[in-house]
Amino acid sequence: MKHADVGVHPMDGGLARLHGRNACLKGKILVAGPCSVESEGQITEAALELAKIGISLLRGGIWKPRTRPGSFQGIGKVGLPWLKAAGKIAKIPVACEIAHPSHVDACLEHGIDVLWIGARTTVNPFSVQALADRLRGVDLPVMVKNPINPDIELWIGAIERLRLAGITKIVAVHRGFSTERKSIYRNEPIWRIPIELRRRMPEIPFLCDPSHMAGSSGLIKTLAQEAMDHLYDGLMIEVHPHPENALSDGAQQITPAQLRSLMASLKTKKENTRAGGYLSNIDALRKEIDGIDRQLLDALSRRMEIVRDISRQKERYGVSFFQPRRWRTVVEDRTRYGVAKKLDPDFVHRLFEGIHEEALRWQEQAIEAPPPESAARPKQRPNTG
Ligand code: PEP
Ligand code: MN
Repeated sequence: MKHADVGVHPMDGGLARLHGRNACLKGKILVAGPCSVESEGQITEAALELAKIGISLLRGGIWKPRTRPGSFQGIGKVGLPWLKAAGKIAKIPVACEIAHPSHVDACLEHGIDVLWIGARTTVNPFSVQALADRLRGVDLPVMVKNPINPDIELWIGAIERLRLAGITKIVAVHRGFSTERKSIYRNEPIWRIPIELRRRMPEIPFLCDPSHMAGSSGLIKTLAQEAMDHLYDGLMIEVHPHPENALSDGAQQITPAQLRSLMASLKTKKENTRAGGYLSNIDALRKEIDGIDRQLLDALSRRMEIVRDISRQKERYGVSFFQPRRWRTVVEDRTRYGVAKKLDPDFVHRLFEGIHEEALRWQEQAIEAPPPESAARPKQRPNTG
């Protein structure tokens, strides 16, 4: 399986070895294990059950970044030998979260195979830099979860800090984002952010963590399938032998048996196929889309030129750029028109918010840099709205 357009195997750079073990999700990485390592018995039971399913990597948090004090903060360093031993017995490499340089030291001391940086750490460049500094010269794969807030630059910045410290085996993990919006999810997926990250860093293997997105076990399957539809390289799923007794994230953890049936139900998708007339059909349809996109851009460019003319008129007569009443009419009219054309009203609204924001920018710019008289556009033009 080739990854994106760059011809690099997605598991190159450290995870190929893990990928080779995976029996249940063809061609994909499956990281599974409890939110937290709680006892030697719990992690060993989890490891043995998960080994039967054929996972790539056993996860287990040792230090838990909890939102509130007083909740279970992780078992601490004493759990590292339990995690490592469980992995050895089950013949699965093991992964643990690091949030502080001292965690890196402890993981190295106990032979942890893969490290991950959690969402609450990715968000803080000081913490990421401290980890990167401690990881200099360490040849382990590091998984980087998205930051808690929907800020792609923080995610990219964390990856860059690791790269600059010489870490080459980097994997991105999409675990959803905290927002103020009401949502059925604990952390909203906001798929456009990982889509953009993958566009900018196509060489990085990409996992989805539907457990932390979902927040409840019943929502995991839909999200995991969505990740497969988005061609992710694998999944990270929280699995506990007895979720009802879990010391952290109990509601979102599933049992090994549930993981097995989840794996059986997932449909992996391919990026391309030579089957039937697929390639020529898709080619013709894409050409049509390419043409439409150009028309959209031509129309937008014409629209902005008119905006520029309007701004000069407004400036000349001392009228404000932003026109609340006109803006209300535009939104209502375009939404009605869009709905009649079978477009989603929220989509139309968002689209025009973007156009309006850009139009305001053009108006500011036109006034800052008026054109030379000869280059000014003619005053007469058709009223195109
Ligand atoms: C975890 O994986 O247990 C964890 C704390 O995840 P996140 O950083 O995504 O919240
Ligand atoms: Mn968790």
